[in-house]
Amino acid sequence: MAMPETIDPSDGPITLVIFGASGDLTRRKLIPALASLHSKGRLPPNLNILGVARSDMGDAEFHTLLEEFLGGDGMSKPTPDQWAEFTSRIHYIHGDVTKAEDIAEVKRKLAEIEGDGRDGNRLYYLSLAPSLYQPAITGLGDAGMADDANCWRRLVVEKPFGTDLASARELNDIAHSVFREDQVFRIDHYLGKETVQNLLVFRFANAIFEPVWNRNYIDHVQITVSETLRIDERGEYYDQTGIMRDMFQNHLLQLLTLVAMEPPHAFEAEALRNEKVKVLSAIRRIHAEDVGRHAIPGQYRSYRDETGVSPDSETATYAALRLHVDNWRWQGVPFYLRSGKALRSKSTEIIIQFRNPPHMLFPLAEDEDIPANTLAIFVQPDEGFQLEFQTKTPEAGLQMRKAELEFHYHEAFSGQAIPDAYERLLLDALNGDASLFTRADEIEQAWGIVDPIIAGLDLPQAPRPYYYSEGSWGPVEADRFLGSDGRAWLQGGRAR
Ligand code: NDP
Repeated sequence: MAMPETIDPSDGPITLVIFGASGDLTRRKLIPALASLHSKGRLPPNLNILGVARSDMGDAEFHTLLEEFLGGDGMSKPTPDQWAEFTSRIHYIHGDVTKAEDIAEVKRKLAEIEGDGRDGNRLYYLSLAPSLYQPAITGLGDAGMADDANCWRRLVVEKPFGTDLASARELNDIAHSVFREDQVFRIDHYLGKETVQNLLVFRFANAIFEPVWNRNYIDHVQITVSETLRIDERGEYYDQTGIMRDMFQNHLLQLLTLVAMEPPHAFEAEALRNEKVKVLSAIRRIHAEDVGRHAIPGQYRSYRDETGVSPDSETATYAALRLHVDNWRWQGVPFYLRSGKALRSKSTEIIIQFRNPPHMLFPLAEDEDIPANTLAIFVQPDEGFQLEFQTKTPEAGLQMRKAELEFHYHEAFSGQAIPDAYERLLLDALNGDASLFTRADEIEQAWGIVDPIIAGLDLPQAPRPYYYSEGSWGPVEADRFLGSDGRAWLQGGRAR
């Protein structure tokens, strides 16, 4: 992130090798993001792309396959000329990553693309099913394709990175047996979002927030990642995975670290990630037997009717969780996290609820309570911030009313589209900037936090998932959960 956004072409040829090139992620996200970068002139001129998958097809057929989702999700759609120019750099070879002879063919094809017998820089992107990460990595190692004596070689691994601490460690060990840690880029696309990065600018480029960003002024923090989508065709996968693995281990904990971290000494990958790891290590572990006191699991009503889902499934499609960060800054400040499928709206927001004034000067009715200040950080949609505070209602004695100060990206930077997270992340990986990627120890810490919660939810004494209606805000038990702490879920800074 701190690095320049253009790559020095004198570095020699660069090839982005996408394994799993005919899949959903490549077609919906990676290629549209690359095409968008190309049409904005932000890709290095010496970049080629090589797609690899088992399906047998030629370059032209592959290009046609990639056209469907161009320009989606706010990405710039290339003009026909730009697309023609871009596809002249996109190649395809069919191959199975589990077969050494196919990897050897990929190597041969790369030498052909790179030309002159030169060693080329390569970014290997594993856009594959997680079960194929290991054979792909070892295949690259066995073929000598990770060797970076004369050029750079990097590996991008998609989420999920492991399914628990043990499997994440195993995958890290495999990755480290072939690549050094500084060559490995683990994706959490939330970190590529502009507002998530702006949270760091907000916190660390403005002096006024830092003095109040602690237990003395903050009552609690809420982080909500809600989705309207059900599990669609992912029934079999989802039923094995559940919300804790799918959302909490990665996105929600990542957002928490950015809110809670200390200022890094520099805006650079290692400094930033050191601070994030410190937050994760400070999160109080929830013991499996205690999960019922700290977590509320939920399941949308029709979940068990979904294809691929067991008819008596107890997989949570929703969870609310209370975490504590045991350090000086955050002692006693609960972090409430919640996420779910089939909820009322799709949004990601962080709400900082400040404390009430220590002494209320102004007369309040007996049952009147004035809401404390809140700062809402909208990650999506309508990226921006909103600060709520009290004002005096004109000519109404000392009657108070809540008012808002708002900042919306689309208003402040009108005409400037917010780039898709994958645009940022692909460019950063090509630049070798790992700030927005997750480090091995960070992933392991995060699994160390959610593993006992997942185990605890399976124990007989744990609450069974509470049903909630599709289109609601989750089970009422999640409201009672906060209510029992004397708090309520806030929506865009407003209690719902
Ligand atoms: P898909 O199942 O749609 O695509 C898988 C790709 O892998 C296909 O191109 C398939 O093509 C190829 N493939 C399968 N087996 C092999 C093999 N043995 N050797 C070489 N290629 C193979 O998956 P997605 O694109 O949806 O997901 C890819 C990864 O990205 C997963 O890890 C997923 O968790 C992650 N991800 C996906 C997101 C999305 O939006 N889809 C979002 C976030 C993460 P063929 O059959 O021709 O070989």
